[in-house]
Amino acid sequence: MVYCSNCGEQISDDAYFCPKCGTKTAKGTEANVKTSSEELRDAFYKVGIELERAFTIAAKETHAAFQRARADMQQKPAEQHEPMTCPNCGTKNAFGSIFCNNCGKRLSPLEESHGA
Ligand SMILES: [Zn+2]
Ligand SMILES: [Zn+2]
Repeated sequence: MVYCSNCGEQISDDAYFCPKCGTKTAKGTEANVKTSSEELRDAFYKVGIELERAFTIAAKETHAAFQRARADMQQKPAEQHEPMTCPNCGTKNAFGSIFCNNCGKRLSPLEESHGA
């Protein structure tokens, strides 16, 4: 017979827990028996770690996504989408226009370098 360390109840030698108060006996500790509350706590702990990891990854990804979005906005040069002003008549033509829609002059600078 052993005695419960908590309540002093007499417990049989092969008992893992005190039948009176539920305290784990030395044998129970030795056998590494888990009480239901300990198992629950362990389960929650593991789930907590997984959740924390998932949240950390999600937070990092969200942060990275925001940074990428911000970098994209900063990298987009405004002049790429600015209207193309005709050097001949000054008419603003839509971005990507090759010829002025007012006077028909070629807007591409390549035309000038070729000298044609
Ligand atoms: Zn006890
Ligand atoms: Zn023009």
